[in-house]
Amino acid sequence: MKKVIFIDCGDTLVDEATQVFDKNENVTDVKFYENSDKVLFKLKELGYIIILVADGKDESFRNIFKKINFLDKFDGFVVSENVGELKPHPAMFETAYNLIPDKYRNKDNIIMVGNNLRRDIKGANNFGITSVWMNWSPRYFHEFEEPDWKPDYEIKSPAELLELLKKL
Ligand SMILES: [Mg+2]
Repeated sequence: MKKVIFIDCGDTLVDEATQVFDKNENVTDVKFYENSDKVLFKLKELGYIIILVADGKDESFRNIFKKINFLDKFDGFVVSENVGELKPHPAMFETAYNLIPDKYRNKDNIIMVGNNLRRDIKGANNFGITSVWMNWSPRYFHEFEEPDWKPDYEIKSPAELLELLKKL
């Protein structure tokens, strides 16, 4: 049974088309897609370990998750600005992996959920964890251009993640 969720933010939980930026190019506001905020809280309630694995600026993600009072609910907060690499670089996944409590730190326990085949799915596949493609956004890639871009699972909405997890 999967216990650990690595999750992307842009076009996975929030709609990038609705981002509002300040003069320093930090995101100050954005809309959560469908009921993705409720899904996050539900996953927490169900006991999943949830680690953000996202490319962008630390302050942007703090603003985004503060907005829904989820910032202190994450078990880990892995942001490319702090790591110094972007997904699919293994440093992003390795950093998240090291934040998992000892008891659950096993690649068989982990799924990565993200919208971007070239970053999220490729990175997860090469790191040896289960990849879940959140495919609702029209942005970025929709063809499996390389063999390692092919996700283990595909979902079309945040709510579908809850259903999928019951089967994993
Ligand atoms: Mg994304």
